[in-house]
Amino acid sequence: MFQTLENIFENTCLEDLITAIEFIRALQCASHDDIHCKIDQSTIHRLRNPPNTPFDISSLPDLRLGLDLFLANMNSSVESFNANRDAIMRRHPADRVPSYDQMKRQISSITGVGSVVHAMCKNSCLAFTGPFTNLDHCPKCNEPKFCPGTKKAQQEFHTILLGPVLQALWRDASSAKKFYYRRQKTSEIICELQANSGTLSSYDDFFSGSDYLENVRNGNIRDNDIILMLSIDGAQLYAHKASDCWIYLWVIMDFSPDNRYKKHHVLPGGFIPGPNKPKNIDSFLFPGLHHVCAMQREGLQIWDASVDRLFVSQLFLALNTADGPAMAYLNGLVGHHGKFGCRLYCPVPGRHKPNGPHYYPALMKPTDYTMSGCDHEDLPFTHFGLASSSDLYLRNLNFLLKSPNETQYKKRRLETGITKPTIFLGFSPDRILGVPGCFGSDIMHLGTFNLADLLLSLWRGTLDHDTGDLPSDWPWAVLNGETWETHGKDVASATPFLPGSFDRPPRNIADKINSGYKAWEWLLYLYGLAPALLYKILPEPYYSHFCKLVRAMRIIHQYHIRVDDLQLANNLLKSFVEEYETLYYQRKVGRLHFCRQSIHALLHLAPKVTRIGPPICSSQWTMERTIGNLGEEIRQPSNPYANLSQRGLLRCQVNALKAMIPDLGPPQVSLPRGSIDLGDGYILLRAQDRYERLMHPQEATALLHFFDTTAAARSLVNRYWCPKVTRWARLRLPNGQVARSRWKECLKPLGKLRTARNVKNSIFTLAVLSLYSEPDHDLLTASHDTFILCKHLGDSAIQVIEVSRIKSVVAMVPYKLDKHGPEEQHYFLVERPGLDVVCLGGGGEDFS
Ligand SMILES: [Zn+2]
Ligand SMILES: [Zn+2]
Repeated sequence: MFQTLENIFENTCLEDLITAIEFIRALQCASHDDIHCKIDQSTIHRLRNPPNTPFDISSLPDLRLGLDLFLANMNSSVESFNANRDAIMRRHPADRVPSYDQMKRQISSITGVGSVVHAMCKNSCLAFTGPFTNLDHCPKCNEPKFCPGTKKAQQEFHTILLGPVLQALWRDASSAKKFYYRRQKTSEIICELQANSGTLSSYDDFFSGSDYLENVRNGNIRDNDIILMLSIDGAQLYAHKASDCWIYLWVIMDFSPDNRYKKHHVLPGGFIPGPNKPKNIDSFLFPGLHHVCAMQREGLQIWDASVDRLFVSQLFLALNTADGPAMAYLNGLVGHHGKFGCRLYCPVPGRHKPNGPHYYPALMKPTDYTMSGCDHEDLPFTHFGLASSSDLYLRNLNFLLKSPNETQYKKRRLETGITKPTIFLGFSPDRILGVPGCFGSDIMHLGTFNLADLLLSLWRGTLDHDTGDLPSDWPWAVLNGETWETHGKDVASATPFLPGSFDRPPRNIADKINSGYKAWEWLLYLYGLAPALLYKILPEPYYSHFCKLVRAMRIIHQYHIRVDDLQLANNLLKSFVEEYETLYYQRKVGRLHFCRQSIHALLHLAPKVTRIGPPICSSQWTMERTIGNLGEEIRQPSNPYANLSQRGLLRCQVNALKAMIPDLGPPQVSLPRGSIDLGDGYILLRAQDRYERLMHPQEATALLHFFDTTAAARSLVNRYWCPKVTRWARLRLPNGQVARSRWKECLKPLGKLRTARNVKNSIFTLAVLSLYSEPDHDLLTASHDTFILCKHLGDSAIQVIEVSRIKSVVAMVPYKLDKHGPEEQHYFLVERPGLDVVCLGGGGEDFS
């Protein structure tokens, strides 16, 4: 491939393209001894010769005291550290408690974790790295690099070095063992494949995907290696102030999913400060990527404390993820308007309107359409499995790079969808998942903002249209006027019925759609509430068409995706896309813009799961949370960018420190007072009945029935038995959700309540359940099983089960159809989307 890349790169004459190639070349031969490496010699020495003993703090009581103080005050201020220190020194003047600055130096020397600093343009155009290293002025805006008359950079940015963090994480036995998850999981997957003639029953991690397994099979990835994911996102630091800051993070995929996305395991890599959007992101990513490439070339020396051995690890860059706009910086693609505008760079060409430059990926050819280069016949809705094509990418890249002038470049850019060669071409092909295969999908933005924007614009009749194609004639454009207002209220009134574990409930959509409706709100709205709330509002066939999307997305959002469910999702998505073109676009050239990339992207979702596992494993939900966290930690608003870097570095150092010295971490969260651990992750939480109470007759009958089915207990009871029981208010489930009993929940006013008493079951602590009916069959059929409406059966159907059969908390939202009698209570079911994942990211409810 290198030979081919050289051929592709030669004879490039446009300046920006040459710069991009220079960055790539610098990565291809990256070394910690080359001119691009700004890491100090002692750090490099330590990288090559890591300490091979655990760090023993037991003999250093003063340091221990200092560390405890430092960690306890991390989220407050230097002043509060000093106040605590002074208080201790007053009482024990002989103690040598280190000062705050001494502590910072100590922490960086114990962990070996530090950052490299580079100068950057004051207007944040670019960083003076790689080919820009020796420039005195910014080539974009001409701003000088240094403050006048000095050698001090006007602005700097930090790159946190990954190698020392990784070494530190191996320097304690229990921390090192976390890396072993991957090899264990991999061998389980390989066993299952061998036992079932090459097929898996479900996809439940990146490692189930064929891309990873292929690299294991061909020897690119071995047991000792470390698999990384890079994730980049823009952060707006102040709600009311426009400020652009970009953060990238490293995720260690070797850790189990319930560890890897947590705050203390996600490693900030670098901060690209504002105030403006960077004009050259490569220059900011370069120091971090150069460091990784250099480690890939020489191997990273690691001492594994769990088995006391030194070994060489190879780093493998599996995925690069970003939200929509940031992704264009990473993959160097135009984004959605090019002829090959697909994010995965699949070979499906778009079509454009007679007078518009933008291409749209409509698979069906418009009626009476002649357009040179894009009037190809209908393309099939199948065959998306082999979509991302490295050959096509390189061929088109070659065509782009050979542009003789700016005019030709612009033409070729639109034609190919490539703006520049991606910097990731600088990675050795056996150390990366491939280009463009290494770019992850973004289920978060696709599933929420992108699809919501399109569908709601259609249903509200607010989408752009040709003069002769009035929304008033669109049969699907029904969400307007009073219908829209009522719909908005219906959404808001579901709030009391969504349990706290569902996080933020969607607000009144009619009022708030333009005031920052959050991704999570869209998720709950589209895939939770909409199938019920749009029933009989969105007319057929548009309603049932939409339900296909809902059913498929509910499957795709899961952390564990069963193979037969995936097949179902794939069929539903294909049929959704095909019918979307038939129902909405209708081969009308004036409606080509209805066929956005967000619709096309759905065709890739299921095949991509087979390649890289469930999309949620590489979704942006992780990033959002970490960025939010870092943002909250900023204490000096005068220069948030510098401070963010400091906090990011400190976060990395403290993560490393706590990994090396586990007992520095907070003590294990003890169970709240009065709770009882039932084992297997089930915990009873108060309130509890103070006195035993007699069961109601219906409950006693149900209990008897339960014992009847439990053979051992059968002989113990007789028909006239009326047992006494103690009731509990709450049960914490293994997934972190808290199920509440009706006993306490019914005592609260509805306005204050987030109902959580509805559970999906699967005690000899026992739960007494009052059942819902089987779902309304007609509605299930009409909605592709997405509108699940049940009648509450009350005291007439009471059942007793063991609590360990309770799997999760679901929402049941009241709903009435004309055919329901006045006394009947019906509810529709909403499950929490992507439940597993939020629990992985450290969510779940507090005990409090
Ligand atoms: Zn500049
Ligand atoms: Zn595609």
